Amino acid sequence: MKLIIAFLALFYALPTHAKNKLFVVSSFSILGDVVQNVGGDLIEVQTIVGPNEDTHAYNPTPNDNKLILKADLIVINGLSFETWFQRLIKASGYKGPVTIASKSIPFHKMMEPQFSDEPVPDPHVWSNPRHVMIWVQNIKKALQKIDPNNTILYEKNASDYIEKLETLNQWIKDQFKGIPKDTCKVITAHDAFNYFEKAYGLVFLAPQGLSTLDEPSAHEMVNLIKQIKKEKISTIFVENISSQHLIKQLASETGAKIGGTLYSDALSKKEEPGGTYLNMMHHNVSTLATSLGCTVSP
Ligand code: ZN
Repeated sequence: MKLIIAFLALFYALPTHAKNKLFVVSSFSILGDVVQNVGGDLIEVQTIVGPNEDTHAYNPTPNDNKLILKADLIVINGLSFETWFQRLIKASGYKGPVTIASKSIPFHKMMEPQFSDEPVPDPHVWSNPRHVMIWVQNIKKALQKIDPNNTILYEKNASDYIEKLETLNQWIKDQFKGIPKDTCKVITAHDAFNYFEKAYGLVFLAPQGLSTLDEPSAHEMVNLIKQIKKEKISTIFVENISSQHLIKQLASETGAKIGGTLYSDALSKKEEPGGTYLNMMHHNVSTLATSLGCTVSP
Protein backbone atom coordinates (compact mmCIF):
# COMPACT_ATOMS: atom_id res chain seq x y z
CA MET A 1 0.00 0.00 0.00
CA LYS A 2 2.81 2.38 0.93
CA LEU A 3 4.43 1.80 -2.46
CA ILE A 4 1.22 2.64 -4.29
CA ILE A 5 0.80 5.83 -2.25
CA ALA A 6 4.43 6.82 -2.87
CA PHE A 7 3.99 6.22 -6.60
CA LEU A 8 0.76 8.19 -6.76
CA ALA A 9 2.27 11.01 -4.70
CA LEU A 10 5.22 11.20 -7.10
CA PHE A 11 2.92 11.13 -10.11
CA TYR A 12 0.86 14.03 -8.82
CA ALA A 13 3.92 15.99 -7.77
CA LEU A 14 4.90 16.35 -11.43
CA PRO A 15 4.47 19.99 -12.45
CA THR A 16 2.90 19.06 -15.81
CA HIS A 17 -0.11 17.74 -13.93
CA ALA A 18 -0.61 20.87 -11.85
CA LYS A 19 -3.03 22.42 -14.31
CA ASN A 20 -5.27 19.37 -14.00
CA LYS A 21 -5.99 19.97 -10.33
CA LEU A 22 -9.63 19.93 -9.28
CA PHE A 23 -10.93 23.42 -8.59
CA VAL A 24 -12.88 23.62 -5.32
CA VAL A 25 -14.65 26.71 -4.01
CA SER A 26 -15.41 26.95 -0.29
CA SER A 27 -17.64 29.52 1.32
CA PHE A 28 -15.29 30.83 4.04
CA SER A 29 -11.63 30.75 5.02
CA ILE A 30 -11.70 28.25 7.92
CA LEU A 31 -13.53 25.68 5.81
CA GLY A 32 -11.26 26.44 2.84
CA ASP A 33 -8.17 25.53 4.88
CA VAL A 34 -9.70 22.20 5.94
CA VAL A 35 -10.75 21.42 2.34
CA GLN A 36 -7.17 22.13 1.20
CA ASN A 37 -5.79 19.74 3.82
CA VAL A 38 -8.08 16.93 2.64
CA GLY A 39 -7.45 17.55 -1.05
CA GLY A 40 -3.71 18.25 -0.69
CA ASP A 41 -1.86 18.66 -3.98
CA LEU A 42 -4.77 17.23 -5.95
CA ILE A 43 -6.92 20.33 -5.62
CA GLU A 44 -6.81 24.11 -5.77
CA VAL A 45 -9.11 25.90 -3.32
CA GLN A 46 -10.53 29.39 -3.48
CA THR A 47 -12.70 30.92 -0.81
CA ILE A 48 -15.62 33.32 -1.26
CA VAL A 49 -15.37 35.09 2.13
CA GLY A 50 -11.71 35.77 2.85
CA PRO A 51 -9.53 36.05 5.99
CA ASN A 52 -10.77 38.43 8.70
CA GLU A 53 -14.07 38.84 6.80
CA ASP A 54 -17.56 38.28 8.20
CA THR A 55 -19.60 35.52 6.51
CA HIS A 56 -22.83 36.53 8.31
CA ALA A 57 -22.74 40.00 6.78
CA TYR A 58 -21.37 39.02 3.35
CA ASN A 59 -22.98 40.08 0.09
CA PRO A 60 -22.01 38.06 -3.00
CA THR A 61 -20.49 39.96 -5.93
CA PRO A 62 -20.60 39.34 -9.73
CA ASN A 63 -17.04 38.00 -9.39
CA ASP A 64 -18.35 35.26 -7.09
CA ASN A 65 -20.73 34.16 -9.88
CA LYS A 66 -17.77 33.80 -12.24
CA LEU A 67 -15.71 32.01 -9.60
CA ILE A 68 -18.28 29.33 -8.78
CA LEU A 69 -19.02 28.63 -12.44
CA LYS A 70 -15.41 27.40 -12.73
CA ALA A 71 -15.77 25.05 -9.73
CA ASP A 72 -15.68 21.25 -9.91
CA LEU A 73 -17.07 21.21 -6.37
CA ILE A 74 -18.44 23.77 -3.89
CA VAL A 75 -18.18 23.15 -0.13
CA ILE A 76 -20.21 25.14 2.39
CA ASN A 77 -20.76 24.74 6.15
CA GLY A 78 -24.57 24.81 6.04
CA LEU A 79 -26.78 25.21 9.18
CA SER A 80 -27.89 28.60 7.79
CA PHE A 81 -24.38 30.08 8.16
CA GLU A 82 -24.11 31.19 4.52
CA THR A 83 -27.53 32.87 4.31
CA TRP A 84 -26.60 34.34 0.91
CA PHE A 85 -25.59 31.03 -0.70
CA GLN A 86 -28.88 30.06 -2.42
CA ARG A 87 -29.05 33.57 -3.90
CA LEU A 88 -25.54 33.13 -5.29
CA ILE A 89 -26.28 29.68 -6.79
CA LYS A 90 -29.43 31.02 -8.45
CA ALA A 91 -27.73 34.12 -9.84
CA SER A 92 -24.79 32.15 -11.24
CA GLY A 93 -26.66 29.19 -12.76
CA TYR A 94 -24.13 26.75 -11.21
CA LYS A 95 -25.36 23.15 -11.59
CA GLY A 96 -22.40 21.19 -10.15
CA PRO A 97 -22.06 19.37 -6.83
CA VAL A 98 -22.43 21.18 -3.50
CA THR A 99 -21.25 19.53 -0.27
CA ILE A 100 -22.68 20.52 3.10
CA ALA A 101 -19.68 19.94 5.38
CA SER A 102 -21.70 20.04 8.61
CA LYS A 103 -23.97 17.12 7.59
CA SER A 104 -24.32 14.63 10.51
CA ILE A 105 -22.77 17.01 13.08
CA PRO A 106 -24.90 17.03 16.24
CA PHE A 107 -25.87 20.72 16.23
CA HIS A 108 -28.02 22.59 18.72
CA LYS A 109 -30.64 25.29 18.21
CA MET A 110 -31.12 28.63 19.93
CA MET A 111 -33.75 31.35 19.99
CA GLU A 112 -32.87 34.35 17.82
CA PRO A 113 -35.95 36.55 18.13
CA GLN A 114 -34.54 39.20 15.77
CA PHE A 115 -34.52 36.70 12.89
CA SER A 116 -37.07 33.97 13.61
CA ASP A 117 -39.94 32.93 15.91
CA GLU A 118 -38.54 29.38 15.94
CA PRO A 119 -35.19 28.21 17.37
CA VAL A 120 -32.44 28.34 14.72
CA PRO A 121 -29.37 26.09 14.32
CA ASP A 122 -26.06 27.32 15.73
CA PRO A 123 -23.72 27.08 12.71
CA HIS A 124 -20.38 27.61 14.56
CA VAL A 125 -19.51 23.90 14.70
CA TRP A 126 -15.80 24.44 13.94
CA SER A 127 -15.10 25.73 17.47
CA ASN A 128 -14.97 22.03 18.44
CA PRO A 129 -12.22 20.11 16.55
CA ARG A 130 -14.20 16.88 16.89
CA HIS A 131 -16.89 18.43 14.70
CA VAL A 132 -14.21 19.43 12.19
CA MET A 133 -13.37 15.72 11.96
CA ILE A 134 -16.90 15.22 10.57
CA TRP A 135 -16.29 18.11 8.13
CA VAL A 136 -13.20 16.19 7.01
CA GLN A 137 -15.16 12.95 6.44
CA ASN A 138 -17.82 14.75 4.39
CA ILE A 139 -15.22 16.63 2.31
CA LYS A 140 -13.27 13.40 1.74
CA LYS A 141 -16.37 11.55 0.49
CA ALA A 142 -17.25 14.42 -1.87
CA LEU A 143 -13.73 14.50 -3.36
CA GLN A 144 -13.65 10.71 -3.74
CA LYS A 145 -16.98 10.83 -5.55
CA ILE A 146 -15.86 13.32 -8.19
CA ASP A 147 -12.28 11.95 -8.40
CA PRO A 148 -12.50 8.19 -7.67
CA ASN A 149 -9.05 7.47 -9.13
CA ASN A 150 -7.49 9.19 -6.12
CA THR A 151 -9.59 7.59 -3.40
CA ILE A 152 -6.53 6.30 -1.53
CA LEU A 153 -4.79 9.68 -1.43
CA TYR A 154 -7.88 11.48 -0.10
CA GLU A 155 -8.23 8.76 2.52
CA LYS A 156 -4.63 9.25 3.62
CA ASN A 157 -4.86 13.07 3.68
CA ALA A 158 -8.07 12.87 5.71
CA SER A 159 -6.68 10.44 8.28
CA ASP A 160 -3.44 12.47 8.64
CA TYR A 161 -5.44 15.64 9.29
CA ILE A 162 -7.86 13.91 11.68
CA GLU A 163 -4.84 12.82 13.71
CA LYS A 164 -3.76 16.47 13.99
CA LEU A 165 -7.30 17.42 15.07
CA GLU A 166 -7.25 14.73 17.75
CA THR A 167 -3.92 16.06 19.05
CA LEU A 168 -5.39 19.58 19.07
CA ASN A 169 -8.48 18.38 20.94
CA GLN A 170 -6.36 16.70 23.60
CA TRP A 171 -4.10 19.75 23.92
CA ILE A 172 -7.09 22.06 24.46
CA LYS A 173 -8.47 19.72 27.14
CA ASP A 174 -5.10 19.82 28.89
CA GLN A 175 -5.04 23.64 28.85
CA PHE A 176 -8.35 23.89 30.69
CA LYS A 177 -8.06 20.81 32.87
CA GLY A 178 -9.27 21.50 36.38
CA ILE A 179 -10.80 24.92 35.73
CA PRO A 180 -13.60 25.70 38.13
CA LYS A 181 -16.75 24.71 36.19
CA ASP A 182 -19.16 27.51 35.28
CA THR A 183 -17.02 30.20 36.85
CA CYS A 184 -14.55 30.86 34.05
CA LYS A 185 -16.50 33.34 31.95
CA VAL A 186 -15.50 34.74 28.58
CA ILE A 187 -17.14 37.77 26.94
CA THR A 188 -16.99 38.03 23.14
CA ALA A 189 -18.99 40.15 20.68
CA HIS A 190 -21.17 37.39 19.17
CA ASP A 191 -22.20 33.88 20.16
CA ALA A 192 -19.63 31.88 18.16
CA PHE A 193 -18.18 29.61 20.84
CA ASN A 194 -21.08 27.50 22.16
CA TYR A 195 -19.62 24.21 20.88
CA PHE A 196 -16.24 25.13 22.38
CA GLU A 197 -18.00 25.87 25.68
CA LYS A 198 -19.72 22.47 25.71
CA ALA A 199 -16.47 20.64 24.88
CA TYR A 200 -14.03 22.40 27.22
CA GLY A 201 -16.02 23.87 30.11
CA LEU A 202 -15.58 27.64 29.82
CA VAL A 203 -18.71 29.81 29.75
CA PHE A 204 -19.10 32.27 26.86
CA LEU A 205 -21.36 35.32 26.96
CA ALA A 206 -21.99 37.79 24.14
CA PRO A 207 -24.07 40.93 23.62
CA GLN A 208 -24.93 39.76 20.07
CA GLY A 209 -26.59 36.43 19.29
CA LEU A 210 -25.55 33.80 16.74
CA SER A 211 -25.10 36.40 14.00
CA THR A 212 -23.01 39.54 13.90
CA LEU A 213 -26.05 41.16 12.24
CA ASP A 214 -27.85 40.91 15.58
CA GLU A 215 -27.96 44.29 17.33
CA PRO A 216 -28.36 43.96 21.10
CA SER A 217 -31.10 46.08 22.66
CA ALA A 218 -30.24 48.71 25.30
CA HIS A 219 -31.88 46.40 27.85
CA GLU A 220 -29.63 43.46 26.87
CA MET A 221 -26.52 45.65 27.11
CA VAL A 222 -27.54 46.93 30.57
CA ASN A 223 -28.09 43.35 31.77
CA LEU A 224 -24.71 42.19 30.47
CA ILE A 225 -22.96 45.20 32.07
CA LYS A 226 -24.64 44.35 35.39
CA GLN A 227 -23.56 40.71 35.08
CA ILE A 228 -19.92 41.62 34.28
CA LYS A 229 -19.80 43.90 37.33
CA LYS A 230 -21.62 41.52 39.66
CA GLU A 231 -19.52 38.50 38.72
CA LYS A 232 -16.32 40.58 38.58
CA ILE A 233 -15.48 39.41 35.02
CA SER A 234 -12.22 41.23 34.47
CA THR A 235 -11.33 40.40 30.86
CA ILE A 236 -13.28 40.64 27.60
CA PHE A 237 -12.25 39.78 24.04
CA VAL A 238 -12.61 41.29 20.57
CA GLU A 239 -13.11 39.12 17.47
CA ASN A 240 -11.24 39.46 14.20
CA ILE A 241 -14.42 39.61 12.10
CA SER A 242 -16.69 41.93 14.01
CA SER A 243 -16.85 45.56 14.91
CA GLN A 244 -15.13 46.35 18.18
CA HIS A 245 -17.57 49.04 19.28
CA LEU A 246 -19.73 46.81 21.54
CA ILE A 247 -16.72 45.31 23.29
CA LYS A 248 -15.12 48.75 23.75
CA GLN A 249 -18.40 50.03 25.17
CA LEU A 250 -18.55 47.11 27.61
CA ALA A 251 -14.92 47.69 28.61
CA SER A 252 -15.46 51.39 29.29
CA GLU A 253 -18.71 50.84 31.24
CA THR A 254 -17.40 48.01 33.42
CA GLY A 255 -13.68 48.67 33.76
CA ALA A 256 -12.91 45.20 32.31
CA LYS A 257 -9.74 45.02 30.22
CA ILE A 258 -9.57 43.78 26.64
CA GLY A 259 -7.67 40.47 26.73
CA GLY A 260 -6.84 40.14 23.05
CA THR A 261 -8.35 39.07 19.74
CA LEU A 262 -10.09 35.74 19.16
CA TYR A 263 -10.51 34.30 15.67
CA SER A 264 -14.17 33.34 15.57
CA ASP A 265 -15.62 32.94 12.06
CA ALA A 266 -12.56 33.52 9.85
CA LEU A 267 -8.86 32.83 9.70
CA SER A 268 -6.42 35.72 9.93
CA LYS A 269 -4.17 36.70 7.06
CA LYS A 270 -1.24 34.31 6.54
CA GLU A 271 1.30 36.56 8.30
CA GLU A 272 -0.91 36.84 11.42
CA PRO A 273 -1.21 34.13 14.12
CA GLY A 274 -4.43 32.48 12.87
CA GLY A 275 -3.55 31.73 9.25
CA THR A 276 -4.68 28.07 9.42
CA TYR A 277 -7.42 26.32 11.40
CA LEU A 278 -4.87 24.59 13.66
CA ASN A 279 -2.97 27.87 14.29
CA MET A 280 -6.19 29.80 14.88
CA MET A 281 -7.30 27.32 17.55
CA HIS A 282 -3.86 27.39 19.21
CA HIS A 283 -3.97 31.18 19.24
CA ASN A 284 -7.51 31.32 20.69
CA VAL A 285 -6.80 28.79 23.42
CA SER A 286 -3.45 30.36 24.38
CA THR A 287 -5.03 33.82 24.45
CA LEU A 288 -7.87 32.59 26.68
CA ALA A 289 -5.62 30.56 28.96
CA THR A 290 -3.18 33.47 29.44
CA SER A 291 -5.66 36.31 29.83
CA LEU A 292 -8.36 34.67 31.90
CA GLY A 293 -6.13 33.19 34.56
CA CYS A 294 -8.66 30.34 34.93
CA THR A 295 -6.30 27.45 34.40
CA VAL A 296 -5.30 25.34 37.33
CA SER A 297 -1.87 23.74 37.44
CA PRO A 298 -1.95 19.94 37.33
ZN1 ZN B 1 -20.64 33.81 13.68
